[in-house]
Amino acid sequence: MEISGYLIDIENAANTIKQQGYKTIAVQVPEGLKRSIFPLVEFLKKETGATVLVSADACFGACDVVNYELKNMDVDCVVHLGHTAISDVENFWISTMFVNAQSTLDVSKVVEKAIPSLVGKKIGLVTTAQHLHTLEKVETILRNHNLEPFIAEGDERISTKGQILGCNFSVGTKIAENVDCFLFIGSGTFHPVGLLMSARKPVIAADPYTNAVKKQEIEDMKNNMLRQRYGAIVACRSARRFGILIGVKRGQQRIKLAREIQQMLDSAGKLSLLITLDEFSPVSLQGFDIDCYVSTACPRIAIDDYLQYKKPMITPVELEIVLGRREWETYVFDEILE
Ligand code: SF4
Repeated sequence: MEISGYLIDIENAANTIKQQGYKTIAVQVPEGLKRSIFPLVEFLKKETGATVLVSADACFGACDVVNYELKNMDVDCVVHLGHTAISDVENFWISTMFVNAQSTLDVSKVVEKAIPSLVGKKIGLVTTAQHLHTLEKVETILRNHNLEPFIAEGDERISTKGQILGCNFSVGTKIAENVDCFLFIGSGTFHPVGLLMSARKPVIAADPYTNAVKKQEIEDMKNNMLRQRYGAIVACRSARRFGILIGVKRGQQRIKLAREIQQMLDSAGKLSLLITLDEFSPVSLQGFDIDCYVSTACPRIAIDDYLQYKKPMITPVELEIVLGRREWETYVFDEILE
């Protein structure tokens, strides 16, 4: 079914629901598709006869699946729209079906536009879930220009070749040494800036929604981000009381890492609290008397939302620098890897 410029294989999901005899299902929908959800829900109701609940809670990624909250509401299955599966999230309380939303936009025009900006001949190709199906076509375009495209498998957390998440650039880092630059297909700067910080090779971003090609802007944003991270590290050097934040969303839980951080802080003679949160917000943290937060949840909270918080928030790697266990020169972007 096509809705709002996306192809969603809801037909396949309906078949599975019928086969399994599910009576109540919950649909989790990303913000951008909420306006167009009616035909999809009507289709599911008609095809399966099931009761369909639609979750209105914000959904940040495949790491963020509604699930245990619905356990006592007789929900048999969650249909999570718009993201591909993350291995550690599937089927943990209630059976979860990930149904991707493939953009129907043609990417060829913006890829052709990006060709003059590419660096060298060996090009690593990466994208987000919505454009994964276009990578074969992009490969052909690059070869027609005598370029050599590379598309890598990611680690266990990544379900499809060439896919990056804001917290996992393994498809890039695995081939970084073999390519001259990366071509990112998709919108925004969130993913390409993370890739640049992680893989340390030039990133050219081709946006099929706006037909814009960005290279210098990505580089400038990375430099600004690094300046800000350095400032955060300096701000935490004299901190005495630390809050170690643990995200409770299934795909963001890093409890083992949180424990290791607490041991590190104990050894350094610092006070610390292990704090769990579902939705991160400055309001949830304002009651604590804490000098510095170390986030083990989605790495992008400390990095992209940094200015929203009154107290500095750093990543686990940045804490190592604060405590003198790592040099700034060996800074690495925090990722959730498997
Ligand atoms: S942890 Fe953060 S970056 Fe990773 S999938 Fe979830 S929301 Fe996206």
